Amino acid sequence: MMRATVMYGAGYVRIESVPEARIVERTDALVIVTHACICGSDLWPYRKLEHTDTGLRMGHEFIGVVEDVGADVRSVKRGDVVVAPFMWSDGTCEFCEQGLQTSCLHGGFWGGTELDGGQGEAVRVPQADGTLVALPLGRGDSLMPSLLTLSDVMGTGHHAAVVARAGAGRIVAVVGDGAVGLCGVLAARRLGAEQIILLGRHADRIALGREFGATDVVSERGEEAIERVLELTGGLGAHSVLECVGYEESTNTALRIARPGGAVGRVGVPQDAAMPAAQSTFRKNITIAGGPAPVRAYMAELLPDVMEGRIEPGRVLDRVTDLDGVPDGYRAMNEREAIKVMISF
Ligand SMILES: [Zn+2]
Repeated sequence: MMRATVMYGAGYVRIESVPEARIVERTDALVIVTHACICGSDLWPYRKLEHTDTGLRMGHEFIGVVEDVGADVRSVKRGDVVVAPFMWSDGTCEFCEQGLQTSCLHGGFWGGTELDGGQGEAVRVPQADGTLVALPLGRGDSLMPSLLTLSDVMGTGHHAAVVARAGAGRIVAVVGDGAVGLCGVLAARRLGAEQIILLGRHADRIALGREFGATDVVSERGEEAIERVLELTGGLGAHSVLECVGYEESTNTALRIARPGGAVGRVGVPQDAAMPAAQSTFRKNITIAGGPAPVRAYMAELLPDVMEGRIEPGRVLDRVTDLDGVPDGYRAMNEREAIKVMISF
């Protein structure tokens, strides 16, 4: 047996013994987890999940050491330190070839009732060749927090910036000061944005956002927030807007602060079936893009910047715990005591 995080319902997360992870398919790898995270998206079930007797295995961001590989695995070997993206993918299908691994025809999500999750001692990794990326370092390296963000939040913030066409000379607005929003600020600066407006209300997060490159902060909400962004942009709005929350109000704000011809990159998981601002975005020719970030595709581009210290997205991980501290880590993130929690095994 091994120990892992299991969620049984809203507010109910436990560490318990589960069957040991093992190789099943010839394309699998077995990874012993050394570092993992609790994600903002783990908080959706933490707030809303109906009770389940079977429980859901949790965690989709992890780094570990390869313990064993199936007979067909070529790209990683025993002893390699590897990072996993938040979905697994074969790397060879039509969509993986396009760099859209989150739509892989043979891929899927970690955890749940079928697979191991990252918040546990070991993980069976399906499609290891397409999924894992070997890291050129040892397991104790100080770059681990930043490397861990390539699993999800840094790649997701980068995706929002890319699909919102952030770049040199552009005014970027980032809606949301969680880990993804802060990484969106970092990504926008990395891409050369001229002005970066962060919409958020938490003092600690705003302070980090400024260090990451935010030039302006808007802490109002609703109509007042929209007016403030217009004031900061000569009445025109932002060229590129990153929606990093997923609520109706934040989405409405994001769609309405984009200038005519601008683009909105949505990476906050939508919590509603309908999208607001249908008419104003139509009138203004707003491009609405985004979705689950293909972070596997971005690892090659972002890894050198992390390795060489040009970006330090791991600063969003402001609390570290061991596996036993994971239930309290969920509580701390849910109560906004921590931006994002790293689990060190
Ligand atoms: Zn694929």
